[in-house]
Amino acid sequence: MHRTYTVTEIRDENYRTKTLVLDRALIAKPGQFAMVWLPGVDERPFSIAAASPLTLTVVAVGPFSERLHQLGEGERLWVRGPLGQPFELPAQPSGKRLVMVGGGYGVAPLRFLAREALTANAAVEVCIGARTAADVLLAERLVMDGAVVRVMTEDGSRGGRGLVTAALEAAVLEARPASVYACGPVPMLEAVESRCLAHGLPYQLSWEARMRCGMGLCGTCEVHGRRREGWLACSDGPVSVS
Ligand SMILES: Cc1cc2nc3c(=O)[nH]c(=O)nc-3n(C[C@H](O)[C@H](O)[C@H](O)COP(=O)(O)OP(=O)(O)OC[C@H]3O[C@@H](n4cnc5c(N)ncnc54)[C@H](O)[C@@H]3O)c2cc1C
Repeated sequence: MHRTYTVTEIRDENYRTKTLVLDRALIAKPGQFAMVWLPGVDERPFSIAAASPLTLTVVAVGPFSERLHQLGEGERLWVRGPLGQPFELPAQPSGKRLVMVGGGYGVAPLRFLAREALTANAAVEVCIGARTAADVLLAERLVMDGAVVRVMTEDGSRGGRGLVTAALEAAVLEARPASVYACGPVPMLEAVESRCLAHGLPYQLSWEARMRCGMGLCGTCEVHGRRREGWLACSDGPVSVS
């Protein structure tokens, strides 16, 4: 069932990303998502960037996300959720070193996870990958939260030049993490997985896929070929724990 939320604050994160802060909470864990409906437009899944109040970080890439960017303070949207399996922190996070790897909007749910981990006294390092300096998302906010942040850009305009997995490799070689968490495009997740397997590290990946129902009924979001047959990003995931 959808619940109506009102936009109370809009933050510009970068040239194509806005954060929408809504008027009330949604009880949810990092890694879960909500289906956001704009009547007469469509419905799409969005990661929960913060739960209290419910906060969404939206990259404008197409018709639906651009409509979300056009919403002003005081305007409404409809939300179904929370949905999906969340990230899991270690049973005793205090003093543990956790490395997170984010690309694109994937940094937003990782920030929610990072804040919970930091509150539980874990040491958090976040590797952010982006095409250019202008695309880097939430780096300053994560530093203010208390995380160590490593930035990689493909053109070298900010941080190291290259793919975010180079930052993951450096972080892992510096000190072995208790766990690695990642959210971003599928090729990035596959590269993170291969580095974690090579180092024998536990890891959790949040998979993105086209979704319709968001609750395991329609089968649209099956992640083919990598996990067991019929693994649905919406209800078995989006987070897989390995
Ligand atoms: C679990 C989950 C959580 C998500 N969380 C966020 C979030 O926090 N912030 C955010 O900005 N977006 C998020 N998305 C993506 C979002 O649901 C929409 O797909 C996105 O906003 C694009 O929709 P659109 O109608 O604007 O553009 P569309 O016209 O649908 O897409 C524009 C372009 O992006 C590509 N694309 C769109 N969605 C996906 C996808 N899921 N996987 C791969 N390629 C895609 C399309 O192929 C196309 O090239 C999430 C998706 C999933 C599955």
